[in-house]
Amino acid sequence: MGKDCIFCQIIQKDLPADFTYTDDRLVVFKDIHPHAPVHLLIVPRKHIRSINDLRPDDHGIVSEMILAGKKAAAEAGIAQSGYKLVFNVERGGGQVIFHLHLHLIGGWR
Ligand code: AMP
Ligand code: ZN
Repeated sequence: MGKDCIFCQIIQKDLPADFTYTDDRLVVFKDIHPHAPVHLLIVPRKHIRSINDLRPDDHGIVSEMILAGKKAAAEAGIAQSGYKLVFNVERGGGQVIFHLHLHLIGGWR
């Protein structure tokens, strides 16, 4: 859990990020290269490589991530206009940071 992981470094405050929400299980911060007017990353504090590495007892954190995405969308004012919640999984799925995260993307219209 690690020194080599950029999201662990952000969570540990060793690297800066623009946080919009934090609690004891997850953090939410702005994507540094936004693909849309609203682009947030919902990231568990626990280092999990990808969806492929989820274990049955991780179901709680996955639920919390989705609910945090819903809440962040409402707070960003895009709940009604709509948005995407996206997990990229491994290289073929577009994942480049190998610490589980959920993209909240929206605000186009
Ligand atoms: P993924 O392709 O699903 O692994 O997404 C990783 C995302 O992390 C990309 O959208 C990047 O723009 C974003 N990203 C990379 N480094 C940082 C950083 N230091 N702060 C915020 N977002 C980052
Ligand atoms: Zn990590």
